Amino acid sequence: MKKVLITGSSGLVGKAIQNILPDKEQYIFITSKDADLTDMSETKRLFEKYKPTHVIHLAACVGGLYKNMNNKVEMLEQNLLMNFNIVKCAHDYKVEKLIACLSTCIFPDKTTYPINEEMLHDGPPHNSNDCYAYAKRMLEIQCNAYRENYGDNFICVIPTNIYGPYDNFNLEDGHVIPSLIHKCYLAKKEGKPFIVRGTGKPLRQFIYSEDLGKLILWVLENTNERSLILSVDKEDEVTIEHMARLIAKEFDYENNLFFDASFSDGQYKKTADNSKLMSLYNDFDFIAHEEGIKKTVKWFTNNYETARK
Ligand code: NAP
Ligand code: GDP
Repeated sequence: MKKVLITGSSGLVGKAIQNILPDKEQYIFITSKDADLTDMSETKRLFEKYKPTHVIHLAACVGGLYKNMNNKVEMLEQNLLMNFNIVKCAHDYKVEKLIACLSTCIFPDKTTYPINEEMLHDGPPHNSNDCYAYAKRMLEIQCNAYRENYGDNFICVIPTNIYGPYDNFNLEDGHVIPSLIHKCYLAKKEGKPFIVRGTGKPLRQFIYSEDLGKLILWVLENTNERSLILSVDKEDEVTIEHMARLIAKEFDYENNLFFDASFSDGQYKKTADNSKLMSLYNDFDFIAHEEGIKKTVKWFTNNYETARK
């Protein structure tokens, strides 16, 4: 029987996977309370204890644009250590299949669009998140090295921007969707303007966390591709303004939305090509953003006291 160890289980994607699994018997859900994955001896203890046959490695030091800009050392060191330890243990403890998680935000800043799986190392990342990006790029290099030298079935999945319940709704460190949901919630409560940072013009491909969870579980069962972008179609790329307006609409606060262009916009776009995914799984049905935002706002307002913020 398969034994699937999932790191980062308390996070946005880990929780989504837990919520969609009908039968959790084969799964071991790990958080930082079980092991500090930056520590090799704790990571080894985890593999010795559970002897997983499969690993889905989601744990990471993650954050939005402003967290990446202000915490470069942490983003580099925590992610390098965690990823190194997990990949090495996956090999040493003879894991049959490892799924490691990259991100489209680690691709070159100056590139041609759409970006595909083969373009990851074709230029430096955007300066705002270079440390997170280089740590994640090394994860891909390490997985490929084990694949090439030892034939290990180590796979890198590459999601675009994710959102959903259990996200980090921190006003400063969160990604754009959870931060804006929290900001709009407070703005309405206090009768203040809802301020969106930057110009609202940058483009992103957002994926709802449960859709991503379903795709990762599908990868676990159905493909051994070396790397795979997990994303909505490039035609479904939207502006930050579009998503901010959906959030404001959900709070019935549309007339109070303003932009503060003194904040950085970050990378203008990172349009990703999902055609490899579509060639393997062409009838996957992504949920509409209206629905995803509705569910996320509802979850946040219902869980305001306990939500990560
Ligand atoms: P998240 O919500 O921030 O959750 C991070 C998870 O990592 C938590 O379960 C946390 O455990 C765990 N963790 C952090 N430091 C740890 C440590 N030292 N030892 C053990 N566990 C540790 O992250 P997410 O948004 O679900 O991201 C999942 C994956 O997708 C990550 O690899 C991320 O890089 C990637 N990704 C995310 C996005 C996005 O928009 N969110 C986009 C593309 C790719 P505790 O709760 O116990 O601290
Ligand atoms: P990115 O996609 O990796 O750049 O990360 P984010 O999820 O942090 O999205 C950043 C984009 O959203 C930038 O264009 C920001 O200017 C814009 N944005 C607007 N308001 C906010 C906010 O409150 N928090 C964050 N993180 N980004 C915001």
